[in-house]
This record gives sequence, C-alpha cells and structure tokens, in this order.
Amino acid sequence: MPDATTPPGAGRYAPSPSGDLHLGNLRTALLAWVLARRTGRAFRLRVEDLDRVKEGSEQRQLEDLAALGLDWDGAVVRQSERGSAYAQAIAALQAQGRVFECYCTRREILEAPSAPHAPPGAYPGTCRDLGAAAREQGRTRMHELRREPALRLRTDVASWQVQDLWAGEVTGTVDDLVLRRGDGVVAYNLAVVVDDAAAGVDQVVRANDLLSSAPRQAHLAHLLGLAEPGYAHVPLAVNAEGARLAKRDGAVTLRDRRERGEAAEEVVERIGHSLGVVGCRSAHDLLERWDPATLPRHPWTVELPH
Ligand code: GLU
Repeated sequence: MPDATTPPGAGRYAPSPSGDLHLGNLRTALLAWVLARRTGRAFRLRVEDLDRVKEGSEQRQLEDLAALGLDWDGAVVRQSERGSAYAQAIAALQAQGRVFECYCTRREILEAPSAPHAPPGAYPGTCRDLGAAAREQGRTRMHELRREPALRLRTDVASWQVQDLWAGEVTGTVDDLVLRRGDGVVAYNLAVVVDDAAAGVDQVVRANDLLSSAPRQAHLAHLLGLAEPGYAHVPLAVNAEGARLAKRDGAVTLRDRRERGEAAEEVVERIGHSLGVVGCRSAHDLLERWDPATLPRHPWTVELPH
C-alpha cells in the first residue's frame, strides 16, 4: 500500500474499440482493476480509438466491463480527442533533435538488408542520416504518393530495461520507432506513453503480447521527461490449438455467453477459475480472494461448452 504522504498513482485498462471484448480481454481488464484497487490506486479507462474503430464498439465494451463489476475513476479518455497532447510530445522530441522524416514504404523496409541481429522487419535506418537534397527528393516522392513522411525517433540507445511484476527485469530492443505514421495517425507507442503519464498511470497491466513494446515505450517516457511506469504483463488466452483466442473460436464474448444462458457472474467465475480461485462471482470477490503471486505464467486455454 502507498504510504499516506505519497498520492497513489493509477492503473488502467485501454481497449481498442474494434469489436467486443473476448474472455481473454475481460480477464486482463479484471486483473488490471484488481491490481490497481489492491494497491490503493485509481483506475482509468482509455479508449484507443486512433484506428480500426468499429461503430458502437466502445459503448458495448464499457457496458461489458461494468457488467463484470469494474468501475473507473474520472471520465473515459479517448485517444481521438488527444491530438494536441501528441503533437506537443512530438514537438518536444523535435526540439531535442530526436525526430527525422522517413520516406520508406513498408515494402522497402521489409526488403532492405538489415543488421545481422535485427529482428525481421526492423527499420534499417535508411532515412536517418539523409542530406538535404535526398530529403527534398523524399518529400517530392511522398507528395506524389499523396502521403506525409512518417516521423521516426532518432534513437541513441540499442535497448532499455523495464520492471515487470512477474517477468522481473526485462531488457528489450529500442529502434528508430515510428512516432507518426505516413497517414498522419500518431503511433500507438507514442500515444500510450503520453496518455499514461497524463492520467498519472504508474502501473501498466496488459496482455503479454505487448511485453516486447514496453522497453521502447519506457524509453520514450524517459526522453519526454515522464515517469516510467511499472509493468505487469499477463498471459494471453488461447484456443484448444494454442492459437490466440479470437471471435472465430465461437462464443467467446460476454454477450455470446449470455446468449447461451450464462450470467455475468458465471463468466467472472470462469475467469476466477482460470486464476485458481473457485466461486468468485464478482470483481470484488476476485479483489478479496485472488493473490497476484499465484498468477499462472502460461497462456489460459479457454475451453467452452457450446
Ligand atoms: N489498446 C491495446 C489493445 O487493446 C492495449 C494497449 C495497452 O494496454 O498498452 O490491445
């Protein structure tokens, strides 16, 4: 628990409104809420609606989270309304000389020879150190393609370290990541960092497919003079074949379960069971009875009756 002199920070859940949340998403949301409330933190809800938005999805997601017993502090934040905060952050990095324009297409990046140990698809540094004439050419080309140049971070570290509640100290690659895409949309990695800091979030709980992004996000926070949050990445939910759970796996959303006669309490019970607690009927039960130290470290295989 935080002591009385330090104001507690916040946890958060940050869904993308691209469809209904499935059981894996709901489990992550419950865990984020429990971990925040356990530690006296506020809990924030942020809708990551910069792209892939499905009409009506936000409302349905919020209703589903509330049906499980989750509550949140303050107004829901939408990324689509935070453009000026992102622009300010990019300007701050520009003022440090850390931003460059990139004229590469996705295909050019994939096809470029990359450094021997770079992960496939890693940015090969093509536009990092171009001279004025080459930049002019690049801009003309972008103009012809009716695109903006992407903006990338000029990175001066190869890796960064973060602290994860379960994974411990994690070191990951930091590359010349995109800050703003060629279509003008702010990159997820930047938006997340700016939004978490603005909301006082110091505990980031989310699925562990994002663990490898945490070091570059924490490094961005560092460059922007923002506090680096602690992380807690939770295992993904998978189907019987071990593939990431998806809508096509059947009745995997709260609404699907309800249509099959399962109450929200039973869905919480199912999720609690996956965490080793029997008979939890609400988020509050889980808050009281689940011990974070016992989080299973392997993916949750979701087996559902039809
Ligand atoms: N919006 C992302 C998702 O739904 C989560 C991003 C985050 O938690 O940092 O997968």
